[in-house]
Amino acid sequence: MIVRTLLLVSLAATVAFAEEHAAGPSADSILAELKAGNQRHVTGSYKPNNHKTLARRSELAAGQHPGAIILSCADSRVPPEIVFDQGLGDLFVVRVAGNIVEDAGLGSMEYAVEHLGSKLIVVLGHERCGAVDATLKGGEAPGHIAELVRKIQPAIDKSKGLPGDKLDNAVITNVKLVVSHLKAAKPILSDQSSNKKIRIVGARYDLDTGIVTWID
Ligand SMILES: [Zn+2]
Repeated sequence: MIVRTLLLVSLAATVAFAEEHAAGPSADSILAELKAGNQRHVTGSYKPNNHKTLARRSELAAGQHPGAIILSCADSRVPPEIVFDQGLGDLFVVRVAGNIVEDAGLGSMEYAVEHLGSKLIVVLGHERCGAVDATLKGGEAPGHIAELVRKIQPAIDKSKGLPGDKLDNAVITNVKLVVSHLKAAKPILSDQSSNKKIRIVGARYDLDTGIVTWID
């Protein structure tokens, strides 16, 4: 009887572990790690070899489970892995100037949510964004830059008249609009977001201080 009870307890513990392992860390704990990582970036105290070892590379060769998806601007000064002090396999990154949403990027994020188990999406805009600035200034947008301008224009229109810095207001408004767009993106992100299976948040990166400010 004791043996049987022990066996059942052991089995229950194994099942619980398996479920927890399959579920992975929650969106909140992933967000907490990104906040801690950004704090390390701000002070320049990066974690040595944080998921940047040969062992980690080997471990990941068999499969990836990045907790967070980052939709960030393509700006060379805002690389998510460095800004959040993360390593191989930690972040699923989609980058495009002005951190806008387009179909291929949206499909990439849907793939990460559906197949890789990512639970957090961060839309990361940044101070003095060139794409937002160009849209704000208007004028001719040659080639495919016109498409970026078309996507960013609603943020310029919506932030018009707000007190404070026009460019920064447009950057923050653009992030908020993209977050709303992702939350409403049917069928995958809208369902997962409204069922609280994933969390979608906005953020602004400060080029001068390295600080990420969260826009929820
Ligand atoms: Zn930018």
